[in-house]
Amino acid sequence: MQHNWSRYLRLIIGSLIACTAVGAFVGYPLYGLTLGLIAYLWWTLIQAKRLYHWLGHPGATSDAPQSVGLWGDIFDGLHKLHQSHLRLQDRLKAQINRVQESTNAMRDGVIMTDAKGTMEWWNGSAEYLLGFRRNTDRGQYIHNLIRMPAFKAYFDARDYREPLDIHSPAKPHIHLQIQISLFGDDDRLIVAKDVTRLYQLEQMRRDFVGNVSHEMRTPLTVISGYLETLVDNADDLPPKWHRALNTMAQQSSRMEALITDLILLSKIEIGEQTVNDTLTDMDALIRQICHDARALSGQKEHEFSVQITDQRLLKGDESQLRSAFSNLIFNAVKYTPARGHITVNWSANRDGAHLSVRDTGIGIDPRHIPRLTERFYRADPSRHKDTGGTGLGLAIAKHVLLNHDGNLEIKSRIGDGSEFICHFPRERLVERAPESVS
Ligand code: ADP
Repeated sequence: MQHNWSRYLRLIIGSLIACTAVGAFVGYPLYGLTLGLIAYLWWTLIQAKRLYHWLGHPGATSDAPQSVGLWGDIFDGLHKLHQSHLRLQDRLKAQINRVQESTNAMRDGVIMTDAKGTMEWWNGSAEYLLGFRRNTDRGQYIHNLIRMPAFKAYFDARDYREPLDIHSPAKPHIHLQIQISLFGDDDRLIVAKDVTRLYQLEQMRRDFVGNVSHEMRTPLTVISGYLETLVDNADDLPPKWHRALNTMAQQSSRMEALITDLILLSKIEIGEQTVNDTLTDMDALIRQICHDARALSGQKEHEFSVQITDQRLLKGDESQLRSAFSNLIFNAVKYTPARGHITVNWSANRDGAHLSVRDTGIGIDPRHIPRLTERFYRADPSRHKDTGGTGLGLAIAKHVLLNHDGNLEIKSRIGDGSEFICHFPRERLVERAPESVS
């Protein structure tokens, strides 16, 4: 190219000198040069016009204009660039088609939206699972198509670490798990997975546990009743039966406690719908539970400190909250040696409302903490023999908090005591009506 450039320059200068020489030959060298320049300019303008028109409509197939000399090289160079651009475009189109085809073949619904939720693209499964229509829904807000406050809150919160479970807006029998990822310029990639089968299995498990517990309750009540009567009349029985009877009575009351907790847990697991309808007076509830906890403490003479710094009501189911808080506060009594301190604190700040139950008890090894809320998980299996716990208390507390959009935080170190904190969202706090303020 560099080599051609100096050749073309020499050619142009040579032509202009030739024009000047022809002009000089007839006595007008300047006219000769001017005519040469005008001719060159005219030719240049014609080539520039051809280029201009071609650039306006290069088309997928039309070739660049043909010419000679410098302009010929420029046109050739542009033609090559254009062809390689077309090839690249074809390759990208093929890749995009492939990605779209594979995404279309997915069983999960995939949707792309911008930051505000404007629908840009979705696959066939999204049409089936969520009822989107290919022709009319492009450019619509996703919140107009999935009209669910929980989905809007999840979409806007930008915290997508945990998936969201919803019913399909188009087919209510389908249960979907929604997972959002951020990409590009704050755009969203939404994946909707059909979890109906898992949901049904989970439902069957809950129903099974609930039904079995219910069915066992009646025979167990009969056995416990007879055992109680026998223990009360133990004097009429041969002494060799006393120990056996006492053990049987103890074990049957353990089983009763277990069945009561299992029934409670399965009720709480399906009890989401009641938690938004009622208001709970936290001050009264906490004081009542602490009163019962003092009675449970009995001869262990724990020192209780109760601090309530927020007088607002909490939107939530009182009996569920009572179960959760009692389990935490009674655990503090069970796992704190005699004369230890138990501090219960209810407060609110910008992050929400918090109930903290702190004790100076035996503490928990941090490696157990992530699993403590699993059913029947015990930090130290030898401990529960003394405490008579069912192993379901923290599972109940966790499910109650989930029902109330809250979460349970556990801080503890062996020998240093423990702190269990129930966090609730700020939106659940409601001012007391004026007449109920004492
Ligand atoms: P349990 O009926 O055995 O108390 P929970 O579900 O209430 O069952 O608690 C699970 C386990 O967590 C307990 O077995 C115990 O090891 C541990 N734990 C709970 N609360 C405390 C506490 N305040 N201090 C020490 N350990 C605790």
